[in-house]
Amino acid sequence: MNEQGQREVEEAMKGVESVLQSHIPPFRKLPYCSKCAYKDFCYAGEEEEGEV
Ligand code: SF4
Repeated sequence: MNEQGQREVEEAMKGVESVLQSHIPPFRKLPYCSKCAYKDFCYAGEEEEGEV
């Protein structure tokens, strides 16, 4: 990776950190979540219905 690429990665990482520091709304299950490719990320740390 050249210096420009490294700077772009560092800027992208700052953007990620900024998003993580911002307000994150509470998780809300949507009707189409069960077929969504991001389900495992969105459901991380959440209890599935029926879990105790
Ligand atoms: S990204 Fe997918 S799993 Fe997450 S809330 Fe949206 S539809 Fe549901």
